[in-house]
Amino acid sequence: MALVNEQFLKLSESYLFSEIAKKVNTFKVIHPEAKVIRLGIGDVTRPLPSAAIQALHAAVDEMGTEETFRGYGPEQGYRFLADTIIKHDYEAHGISFDPDEIFISDGAKSDTGNIGDILSKDNRIAVTDPVYPVYVDTNVMGCRAGDLQEDGHWSNILYIPCNAENGFLPALPRTRPDVIYLCYPNNPTGTALNKHELKKWVDYALANEILILFDGAYEAYIREKDVPHSIYEIRGAKQVAIEFRSFSKTAGFTGLRCGYTVIPKELNAYRFCGEKVSLNHLWNRRQCTKFNGTAYIVQRAAEAIYTPEGKKQVKANIEYYMRNAALLLEGMKATGLQVFGGINAPYIWIKAPRGLSSWKFFERLLFERHIVGTPGVGFGPEGEGYLRLTAFGKYEDTLEAIERMKTWKI
Ligand code: PLP
Repeated sequence: MALVNEQFLKLSESYLFSEIAKKVNTFKVIHPEAKVIRLGIGDVTRPLPSAAIQALHAAVDEMGTEETFRGYGPEQGYRFLADTIIKHDYEAHGISFDPDEIFISDGAKSDTGNIGDILSKDNRIAVTDPVYPVYVDTNVMGCRAGDLQEDGHWSNILYIPCNAENGFLPALPRTRPDVIYLCYPNNPTGTALNKHELKKWVDYALANEILILFDGAYEAYIREKDVPHSIYEIRGAKQVAIEFRSFSKTAGFTGLRCGYTVIPKELNAYRFCGEKVSLNHLWNRRQCTKFNGTAYIVQRAAEAIYTPEGKKQVKANIEYYMRNAALLLEGMKATGLQVFGGINAPYIWIKAPRGLSSWKFFERLLFERHIVGTPGVGFGPEGEGYLRLTAFGKYEDTLEAIERMKTWKI
């Protein structure tokens, strides 16, 4: 008799975005004439940069002739991309890496989700709350979360509240975790940590032998000078942190799929007996067993975004989204709502007025203004009473959303 992983049965059936889709579909049945503006799901709308498209075409042609055809590639990714990443994403910020410290993947969701494979189920996990749901759900699957409690918390996960009261700055926890996920710039709140704040976490991790899983999927949106682009800008971080990066939001690769994970060779975790083990070595072993590499043509497309042309095109797309973010930020503030984020990230985090719940606020925005957001509570208990809007929509739609908000009496 085959037994299932019972942990999966603890997870809620309905994924946040399918619940939203259901509600939007119901609304559309009742109001088929309404023009709904979708600022909910965090997917990009701009097409791929033409540098990436050209590189894809060229790589596809290479696959069509015997001399240049490529079969299985290295599980860790091609050297040409690792070298390019190191040069542009790290050496440009004064950080050096060897190519075998970079693992190219099909995106940050897979890697942030799969990293638990190399970590003991006895680790005490901490997350900021609200949080990108993948971190929590994959720890449920990996037997580290305990049980879901009535208040929406998992019994074995340590939640670090990030809300308007503490300025969205996570406080160092009183109980020491073994592993902490940090995502900055943050999804869902759109807020960022400056160097001083991030250094607090690196120092805390160094002093307490904690592993930081640092998700930098929105690094390309950083505008302010004192916000670090990589956790490795902080001294000592190579000893305590894994960094996840993605081409999805940087260069519109949500459908193409490419990202990478940095695991410094000096980063260790421990065996039960206290012996140190290299996480770079374990992740390499894991990838070689379970992953057969990212498509060659996709890696060539990723490489192309670092060319001068590619960089220009990426910058233009990011500016397009950040113009939306600025519009949303100012437009929502003008309606009298309390609004956060949107400066170093493509997300706007809105406090629901007069104590409305996240879902109630979502429904009123949908039914009264035909705008779709994402209820904050879907990202964790501390997200209750908030709603997320994304800047990934079309400029014209964002503009119209703001126009609709101007006359809204909520
Ligand atoms: N990490 C965060 C914080 C995200 O918000 C997302 C996507 O929304 C991802 C990772 C997933 O990135 P990818 O498309 O590379 O899997």
